[in-house]
Amino acid sequence: MSDEYVYFAAKEATPDAMTTREIERVSENDPELIDVRCRLLDGTCKWDNLKYKEYLFVKSELCAIGQLVLRGTRIVIPSVLRGQVLELGHEGHPGIVGMKQRLRHNVWWPGIDKDIEKHCKNCYGCQLVGQPSKPEPMSRSELPSGPWQHLAADLLGPLPSGDFIFVLVDYYSRWFEIEVTKVTTSEKITHILSKMFVTHGLPVSIQTDNGPQFISEHFRSFMQLHGIIHRHTTPLWPQANGEVERQNRSIMKRVRIAHAQGRDWKSDLDDYLIMYRSTAHTVTGVSPSKLLFGREMRTKLPNLWEFSIDDVEVRDRDRERKEKSKVYADQRRNAQESDLKEGDRVLVRQGKENKLSTPFNPNPMTVVERNGNAVLIESDQGAQYKRNITHVKKFNENHVQKECCQSEIKENNFAENEITDKFDMLELDVPDNNVPENVCVDASQNEIIESRPVRTRKMPARFNDFIVG
Ligand SMILES: [Zn+2]
Repeated sequence: MSDEYVYFAAKEATPDAMTTREIERVSENDPELIDVRCRLLDGTCKWDNLKYKEYLFVKSELCAIGQLVLRGTRIVIPSVLRGQVLELGHEGHPGIVGMKQRLRHNVWWPGIDKDIEKHCKNCYGCQLVGQPSKPEPMSRSELPSGPWQHLAADLLGPLPSGDFIFVLVDYYSRWFEIEVTKVTTSEKITHILSKMFVTHGLPVSIQTDNGPQFISEHFRSFMQLHGIIHRHTTPLWPQANGEVERQNRSIMKRVRIAHAQGRDWKSDLDDYLIMYRSTAHTVTGVSPSKLLFGREMRTKLPNLWEFSIDDVEVRDRDRERKEKSKVYADQRRNAQESDLKEGDRVLVRQGKENKLSTPFNPNPMTVVERNGNAVLIESDQGAQYKRNITHVKKFNENHVQKECCQSEIKENNFAENEITDKFDMLELDVPDNNVPENVCVDASQNEIIESRPVRTRKMPARFNDFIVG
């Protein structure tokens, strides 16, 4: 019963997002704002007899839009909504400085700083974990020249639940990614990293400690494969991983608060991430999202700029792109009106594996059957393949001498049967005709309908260690 009650109480305490319209509606009947609006909109009211004197020292910055009163670009919050804004601003349990920074850009009211301090000091969760930690010493690592170049990674845990938290921090933007995992093998860690790279791209370097998952052969080759420099913490420079350790403390603080209050710590961590990423960092003075993505994130806090996002350029570009893909589709349709017929000799497109490979496989084939834009083709050795018609082109036999062609084939041997992804990616727009996309095939694929055994040819082992071409 008591657990349920705590959960219910906590859920009820989670504030809803606040819209600018709601603020405007409440502003209409707020006595302070009525008093102020009167001075702003109506010449008959004088500032001298303003009842709420706290507004006097900012009067030159005040203006009104409808019922909304603004101080510069910040919305003046009517008194009955201030508690809710404080709740929103404290979501994720920022400290006093963080909470001020978070609210400063969007909202204002007289005495907001004092109210924030009071709210932080009175927060039940924050009191459970002690005073907000003292400001951290500046990290000695120099700021990289751009985002997502130099990262640090660490594993946090185990928590009582058996979970670990994998943390990846960008030294530049202070953005960090987390992943909760029960498995901490090298394989799992590289899998998590791969997913993060899908979103952010590859960094130049990653710093870790000497944990077993970071010093394994698997991890080493993963880093080498992606061209990422792996830096280990050295005893000479113990602060090197300070950035991650700082995050670890912040994360653990939220987990402990959630645990003590019987809340779902994973969803509370999400709240913390949104708070952290969208709030100006105490060292950089800019939010991690602004530094990493060049934009501020929309959060549950009200703000003015969501009214005025200039998306003209974005929409123009979108229109241009759609226009281009239409032209592209039209070109595709022309290609389908090909006069290719049974008995024609054709060249078949292949993936570009190295500088020596040509767009078309040097071995001409013969069209056995055509069905719409699907063709069945046969090699001189008798192997049959199904292809989309856009993958083949008519071959004029007289133009090429056999000997020349043969020697070229030998040179291209190792490239011929390698299946490449690059080529497939070009073909995403081709309508699906149940035609396999791979141009180069090996015997393990069941595309071959009737054939003699085809030898699987691989690149000679001596090429393994360097790029050919
Ligand atoms: Zn708190």
